Amino acid sequence: MTDEEPRREIRGVRGKPLNVFFDVDNTLVMWNGRLRNHAHDVFAALKDAGHTIYVWSGVGIRRWDMKRHGLDDFVTDYFVKPLEKHHEKLEALGVPMIPDFVIDDHKGVVDAFGGYHIPDMAQPDDDHLIRVLEAINEMATLGDVEEPGERVAVD
Ligand SMILES: [Mg+2]
Repeated sequence: MTDEEPRREIRGVRGKPLNVFFDVDNTLVMWNGRLRNHAHDVFAALKDAGHTIYVWSGVGIRRWDMKRHGLDDFVTDYFVKPLEKHHEKLEALGVPMIPDFVIDDHKGVVDAFGGYHIPDMAQPDDDHLIRVLEAINEMATLGDVEEPGERVAVD
C-alpha cells in the first residue's frame, strides 16, 4: 500500500488584479508541441481570481496556438514580445501596459519585469505552472493584511 500524494490545490486568491504575461515556446507549449501540465486549470484559476492574462511571443501573435490548445478563451490579448531592451520596446510593439508578472523560459524577460523563470524542459510530473499560480497568489495578496484599527476607505 502506498500513501496517496496530497492533491495540489489549483486555486487563485483574489487580491490586487495583475496583468500576467505568458511566453509560449518552452513555457506553455513544449518542444514536442504538447501543452505544459496544468495550463488549463491555472489559466482558469487566474481568471477566476480577477487577473488578466496576456500571451506574448518573440516570433509573433500566437492566438492560433492558444486556440488549438483550448486556452484562447482565457486570454485577453496577444502581443509580440520584446527580445531585448524590454521596457523601451513595449510602446513600439503596442503593449499598452507594463507587465506585472511574466512567465518565461528566458531569464532576461523575467529579470526585466519580474515573475517566474520557468525551465524550458518539462518532466512528466512537471508542476511549475502550479508554482506560478502560488507565486501570483502571493504577489496579489502582498501587503494586503489590514492592521488592527486601520481605517479602510469605503466608497
Ligand atoms: Mg520561450
